[in-house]
Amino acid sequence: MFRLYDTALKAVTEIEPSDGQVLKIYACGPTVYRTAHVGNLRTFLLTDLIVRAAELADFETFVVQNITDVGHLLNDSQDKLLQQASLEGKAALEIAAYYEEIFHQDLAHLNIIPADVYPHASETIELMLQLIKLLIEKDFAYIGKDGSVYFAAQKFADYGSLSGNRLENLKPGHRFGGEVDENKNFHADWALWKIAPDTRTELVWDSPWGKGFPGWHVECTAMSLHHLGQVVDVHTGGIDLRFPHHEDERAQSNAATGEEVVKHWVHAEHLLFEGRKMAKSTGNVVLLSDVIEKGYDPLALRLAFMQSRYRTQLDMSWDVIKAAHIQIEKWRTKAQSANEEGFPLEYEKAFTAYVLEDLDTPRAISVIREAEKVLSESAFADFLIWADLFLGLDLDRAPKQVVVPQEVLDLVEIRSAARMNKDWAESDRVRDQIAALGFSVNDNPDGTEVLPL
Ligand code: AMP
Ligand code: ZN
Repeated sequence: MFRLYDTALKAVTEIEPSDGQVLKIYACGPTVYRTAHVGNLRTFLLTDLIVRAAELADFETFVVQNITDVGHLLNDSQDKLLQQASLEGKAALEIAAYYEEIFHQDLAHLNIIPADVYPHASETIELMLQLIKLLIEKDFAYIGKDGSVYFAAQKFADYGSLSGNRLENLKPGHRFGGEVDENKNFHADWALWKIAPDTRTELVWDSPWGKGFPGWHVECTAMSLHHLGQVVDVHTGGIDLRFPHHEDERAQSNAATGEEVVKHWVHAEHLLFEGRKMAKSTGNVVLLSDVIEKGYDPLALRLAFMQSRYRTQLDMSWDVIKAAHIQIEKWRTKAQSANEEGFPLEYEKAFTAYVLEDLDTPRAISVIREAEKVLSESAFADFLIWADLFLGLDLDRAPKQVVVPQEVLDLVEIRSAARMNKDWAESDRVRDQIAALGFSVNDNPDGTEVLPL
């Protein structure tokens, strides 16, 4: 049985395809106005882990992930993409195409299985217009004082059941830093279609209500209903999307169809880096390219993520990534002994059981560490190769053969001698010299290891 934590239920619950065959998954995708940071990538990995777990549970999957290339507003009127386009002096869709390409490359580096469909917001405008018309017809939406179309939150009685933010508790101006929007009938209403100011010349479309652009939440409702139909088995995203994005999306989808469209909402907790929130404003943004530049295998990040469960906040550090890099290389070396003779079934069962129990990847990895102590070389290697179908760490790849220059080896000897003499200052000085040559030294119980930085 495959179980996941459902945010709306606040409990771990059984996940199965509603149609008995194909698990339909909608994953909130990137807003392509900048390179996704490793926090974003942790969230995108969640969908991949669900897809791989579904395979262990013998379900097929169909995944839709949107590319937001319009409509993600910074505040009431500033589109993130347009702002970046003007900063870089490029056309908005040029910016979008550039960052989308990096997004796909990053996913590939992390062995994240691509979605089946990647619809673009800018190419889905017609679907969004149809949805907005339907919501107006059903009296869930109205035209505000500025001509924009808004969703009437009070018409959707169940508003707040996903995030716990009931309408009576929402203060006016909660959406935009305390600023009250006079164009709406009620402070918790949100824009489905915004009429564009005359100054906006890019990313605007004709509509029955005038030239404008869609609200962000509309995109996900329109795309999921179009590509997955009225049943979405699992909807994923980062925990910050629970409100307002997913609360609003749920209201739109359910209002449009009269059904509970999303069966299970599954959210990834945030990633911190060295104790701090990952945000541009705090100067604490780490990209996958930074990981690669430091000489680490990008899959070290994947392993480092999987060492914690997706719904615990994770404080990542360079030390953890480095340790994961070393671990992968060791496992790759051991996996070379695979001979397809097999391994005891109990390990497969234990590993699968942890994965299927709400993606308990840390415990699944502990099964590998246990097997490493007990199994023969070839049985362990076979187990690694099998487990890698889920882990996605390319363990069948030959470990990197790194040639350590003699100069570095000599310095390592000098450092070891200094350490023997407890001359820590000298040892640190030599370590810096070694680092300047592009290598790191790690002292562990098996001796001193030299790795490329
Ligand atoms: P965005 O491109 O800003 O829409 O974000 C893409 C995804 O990353 C969304 O699902 C966010 O919830 C998620 N996200 C944003 N910040 C973090 C973080 N620090 N850790 C994990 N996920 C995040
Ligand atoms: Zn979304």
